[in-house]
Amino acid sequence: MKKIEDLGDLRGKRVLVRSDFNVPLDGSTITDDGRIRAALPTLKGLVDAGAKVIITAHLGRPKGAPEDKYSLAPVALRLEELLGAKVTLAKDTIGDSAKETVANLADGEVALLENIRFDARETSKVDEERESLADDLAALADFYVSDGFGVVHRKQASVYDIAKKLPSAVGTLVLKEVESLKMATDSPARPYAVVLGGSKVSDKLGVIGNLLGKADRLLIGGGMLFTFLAAKGYSVGSSLLEEDQIDTVKGYLETAEKNGVEIVLPVDIIVAPEFKADAPATIVAADSIPDGQMGLDIGPESQKLFAEKLSDAKTIVWNGPAGVFEFDAFAGGTRAVAQGIVDATAAGAFSVVGGGDSAAAVRILGFDEAGFSHISTGGGASLEFLEGKELPGIAILDA
Ligand code: ADP
Ligand code: MG
Repeated sequence: MKKIEDLGDLRGKRVLVRSDFNVPLDGSTITDDGRIRAALPTLKGLVDAGAKVIITAHLGRPKGAPEDKYSLAPVALRLEELLGAKVTLAKDTIGDSAKETVANLADGEVALLENIRFDARETSKVDEERESLADDLAALADFYVSDGFGVVHRKQASVYDIAKKLPSAVGTLVLKEVESLKMATDSPARPYAVVLGGSKVSDKLGVIGNLLGKADRLLIGGGMLFTFLAAKGYSVGSSLLEEDQIDTVKGYLETAEKNGVEIVLPVDIIVAPEFKADAPATIVAADSIPDGQMGLDIGPESQKLFAEKLSDAKTIVWNGPAGVFEFDAFAGGTRAVAQGIVDATAAGAFSVVGGGDSAAAVRILGFDEAGFSHISTGGGASLEFLEGKELPGIAILDA
């Protein structure tokens, strides 16, 4: 994999960078700019090298056509503030405005192209369609730098096909992400503990199969824990449950037992009658969630248990909040997990946080990001990495 410095002198050269600027928005206000900040090292480096920097990125899920609410305009403003260099937003993705903006770039200036997903070819399953967009992008630049870790698991025009069209390099962020995840997966210092949670249950169950051959301990929180409790024969009230996954989970429990992998399940649960910030919360034993109540966080005994199971770990991967941390009453589990990881990291463990909401939780709950060894910007990408899958956007750089 070529690095940016392997591309040679970039002064005056047009460098197309794929960044991940898919930030959460409230109207036009960016509520968490973590992904923009994570992109800065690569962009600063290119600006300082005197390159003409052209950034392509996506925001949200537009349906292959321009939509005001998915404009990158708020990102352009924030990026200019953080970068301290001029950032001009093109009015289109690859049209006249994009071409003109790029043509007008001075050395060390930045052009941001409009949301690449305004062009349906970006995510097309038809190779020729993606290739034609990649050709259009390639016509704007001399080099390509892949730095959107959140999308490297996607076979998309601005991520995958473009790397075949221009001399390409891996960006600083993607390099750091890959190196950190490799530390946690190739030959992890032991004990190796993985904390899983969040609400994308079926997405995340897939990773468990692979982890059962690698990790020493799996701590299960968040929405997926109820499928585990159901697999043990407990009733889970109205909690999040993937009924069609119960048999898969039963299989995981058996394999874990065979492989000597410890599956740590909560012993108590904080439940409420509805999914609401001010719903009346009570603590119940994990094997007796009453009908009509839903589990929204792991209970205080479980928080202690999780902290203890993290305390002597030497490698920790965390993906998915332990509870509905957005509501104060149900943030304790996530806070305890984050604190446990910070403490273990201070004691010498290597820790990786993956998952957009987990990373946001770290910041929202007021933890110092420096307390973790690495906070990944890519949820799906980091999960696929942990699953042992090949990431197209990385593989193409190696080709
Ligand atoms: P990540 O982005 O870190 O991968 P997910 O997207 O899978 O995590 O899930 C994050 C969401 O999971 C959070 O918004 C949180 O409120 C929710 N969540 C956590 N625990 C539960 C639960 N017990 N029931 C419902 N939702 C939950
Ligand atoms: Mg998420």
